[in-house]
Amino acid sequence: MTMGMIMIGEWRLIRNTISNIPKEIFAIFGNPVSHSKSPLMHNLAFAGLGYDACYTRHLLVEGNALKETFFSLGLKGINITVPHKEAAFNACDILDPFAKKIGVVNTIVAREGKLYGYNTDAPGFLKAISEFTGVKTILFLGAGGTAQSTSSILRDEGYEVTLLNRSKDRLEKYKMDGFETYTFETFNAKAYDLVINMTSAGLEDDSLPAPKSILDAVIPQTKACIDVIYGKETPFLKLAKSHQKSTKDGSDMLLYQGIIAFEHFTNYHYDFNEIYPHMKKAFDFN
Ligand code: NDP
Repeated sequence: MTMGMIMIGEWRLIRNTISNIPKEIFAIFGNPVSHSKSPLMHNLAFAGLGYDACYTRHLLVEGNALKETFFSLGLKGINITVPHKEAAFNACDILDPFAKKIGVVNTIVAREGKLYGYNTDAPGFLKAISEFTGVKTILFLGAGGTAQSTSSILRDEGYEVTLLNRSKDRLEKYKMDGFETYTFETFNAKAYDLVINMTSAGLEDDSLPAPKSILDAVIPQTKACIDVIYGKETPFLKLAKSHQKSTKDGSDMLLYQGIIAFEHFTNYHYDFNEIYPHMKKAFDFN
């Protein structure tokens, strides 16, 4: 009898546990990944909207293990952060046209055993800068992966993007793609409507994205300065403020790319404005 009751109790526990297992599991893959705000953002939205899913994080060391890891963990979808966005592109069976064009994927959803790849960083960034009106010319400081996706979407939207980068090599593909490009040695300052830090300078150190003499020449001529880094005031934004310029960090970009990824994850079950208030709460935490 006791044995039977224990067994029933165990069964109930197992049944309750099983019924609490979310229907869909999502994750962020990256290296490092511990700092990511994405699990908090997505879990707040799942809970707030009553969608039966949860979102976790996974430290992926080898990019070429992405697909195998995805299926072995039984995931429905993932976001991908540094340094695996190109590996994510290669892992997909079906690519959305924009992700295919730029070769960078930060969102994957599994449908009937196939991996569908998207880039939500670029449209997220585009939305984040839409508050700045009357903008035509933009100077990018940096030419890495984030600059690659965002420069492409900005050009598609009619902005003129110029790239200024520390090393020459990274600029080659932009040059071949018809962008105006400069290194610190070849650059002559002129007026740009926006100046945007697309580098990781200031993320974990106190460095500026370009020599101070160059920044002191371009910042006074611009309307506003933007940084894609979030969660801290970078030396670049501090310098912009010292020139009395309006500034914006990367928080909205992070939030908006997450909302767009959530739309893909839930197969457009919710729209942007429904997701926004839930996901935005993640930014109330430090
Ligand atoms: P990459 O590694 O692809 O590129 C890094 C770029 O930064 C290169 O152009 C590199 O120049 C430049 N750089 C790095 N350190 C310095 C320095 N000390 N001085 C000058 N230039 C420097 O990085 P990503 O493009 O993937 O990421 C760039 C930033 O964007 C990161 O800080 C990341 O956190 C942020 N990000 C923010 C997002 C958001 O949602 N807010 C989303 C995605 C990224 P060089 O060629 O000379 O090495």
